Parts: sequence; structure tokens; C-alpha cells
Amino acid sequence: MKKVVSYQCSICKTEYPAIREAKKCEGRFAERKIFRAGDKVKNIEPRACNKNHKQYRFKGTVIKIHGPKPADYEYEAKWLGGKRTNWHVFHYEVKFTCPMCKEERSELYYAPELLRLRENLRTLK
Ligand SMILES: [Zn+2]
Ligand SMILES: [Zn+2]
Repeated sequence: MKKVVSYQCSICKTEYPAIREAKKCEGRFAERKIFRAGDKVKNIEPRACNKNHKQYRFKGTVIKIHGPKPADYEYEAKWLGGKRTNWHVFHYEVKFTCPMCKEERSELYYAPELLRLRENLRTLK
């Protein structure tokens, strides 16, 4: 029997085999949570419909927030131009209906990929 020890980052709960890696993860900055469950959002970069491959933008609702978790390379390189590395970030689960085929979907998005809809501001007043 082999005993396996792992170290967990207290912020994102990721487990690492070496304490050094867990400490490094804990040292990462944490992104501010900018959307809440129930917020109405739209996507910035168009996505393609699964059925007819037409591009579209959606208006959807944040239903769940995942994280904080370590940012992946694609996120930081693509959305932040590599200006920032190794942060803890949030993933926002957004529910929306594809305007092309009316299919209901829920997808994960990072904060810079989404814009808040004006409707939210109205409900705050
Ligand atoms: Zn972490
Ligand atoms: Zn579709």
C-alpha cells in the first residue's frame, strides 16, 4: 500500500503533490467576482450555432459561479493579452437560448467574455 500525500490550495481547493506548488497557488491573486447568479449578460465574441453554424450573440442569465480556480493559459493569453498570469479566476455558468435553433444551452464563460445587460441596472433602482 502506498500512502499519497497531497497539499491543497486553500483558495481554489486544487490539490498538488508538492507543498511548494500548493503555496505557489495560494500566492496567486484572486480575481474580483463581478457577476452574481441571476445577472443578465451577453457574450462579446460571437459563438456558432451547433445546428446551422451561423454566428450569434446571446442574452442569458448567470446561473452558477464556479471557482475560484487557477486561470488557464488560454484565458490569460487570449482575453488579457498575457498581461496577467496565474490568477485565481471565476467561471460563470450562463444559461441562454440559441437564437438560431432555439436550443437551450448552459456554457461556462470567464468574466472578460461577458457584458452586463442594462436590465440589471434598472432592477437595482
Ligand atoms: Zn489555488
Ligand atoms: Zn443553435
